[in-house]
Amino acid sequence: MKPAPFAYRRPGSLEEALEALAGEANAKVLAGGQSLVPLLSMRLAAPALLVDINGLPDLAAIAADATGVRIGALARHADVLASPDVRRVQPLVPLALAHVAHATIRNRGTTVGSIVHADAAAEMPVVLRVLGGSVEAASVRGRRTIPAEELFLGPLESSLAHDEVAVSAHVPALPVGAGVAFDEIARRHGDYALVGAAALVDGDTVRVGYLSVNDVPTVVDLGGVPLEDVGEAALAHLEPVGDIHATAAYRAQLVRVLTERVVRAAYAMAGQEGP
Ligand code: FAD
Repeated sequence: MKPAPFAYRRPGSLEEALEALAGEANAKVLAGGQSLVPLLSMRLAAPALLVDINGLPDLAAIAADATGVRIGALARHADVLASPDVRRVQPLVPLALAHVAHATIRNRGTTVGSIVHADAAAEMPVVLRVLGGSVEAASVRGRRTIPAEELFLGPLESSLAHDEVAVSAHVPALPVGAGVAFDEIARRHGDYALVGAAALVDGDTVRVGYLSVNDVPTVVDLGGVPLEDVGEAALAHLEPVGDIHATAAYRAQLVRVLTERVVRAAYAMAGQEGP
């Protein structure tokens, strides 16, 4: 299919982009286009106006310091994955990004676009949730920071307003002595996961986030739970759904296996044995 007709603007400044979004209620930001363009072609989205932010190179910055990593809206998955600073400051980001799609898609798709697209089957929303990160949004009304726990409202639905651009995402640094791990099961490497899990172990805190289990990225606290029980304990907080890709029972089994696997790996990185 071909997209429905739409107007197209490629602003030369962020202010111009925000004005364009404020002037059309049915407008969409175009970043890497790796999710939006297929949706347009299938006519699952029919915006009146596309505001292409690819003419704003200032939004491509990736900055890391002792507090964490700030990823600009135009930083491509491939650039974030290749950044030694990101790997050093928050290794969960590259661990998860290595599972996002294929090299060609990672060359164009943006990490911030993936977060605000809010697909419950995507890796980066879960990483943001587990780490307690945030998104900075800009509009003609000013700027605001949206914490990850307030960002994901439903399937492909975020709390970003229609006239806001997510200018960056921030993930906190890995604390000294903490550990992280990521793993997923997909039919082929690069496919969307049947189930995926990301773990953070920091002292007594054990947080595990799940993709492709529920409608939104879901995080479960498993601090103090014996390692052999973490899978079952996680399932008490989750309701795996069945679809054409996997039954609910199969997803539940993947939750059991992946939870224990990522929690053990995160404890190992933290240099702890675990309960
Ligand atoms: P776009 O497609 O440009 O936009 C997506 C949505 O987000 C649109 O609604 C757009 O308006 C909005 N948006 C984007 N950026 C902003 C912004 N800065 N401010 C406000 N709104 C914004 N993803 C995974 O996570 N895991 C996978 O395994 C995976 N596999 C894929 C396989 C294929 C074959 C394809 C085509 C894509 C796959 N993807 C996967 C999606 C890919 O990661 C996309 O790059 C990503 O989901 C969206 O990023 P984008 O920059 O392409 O956003």
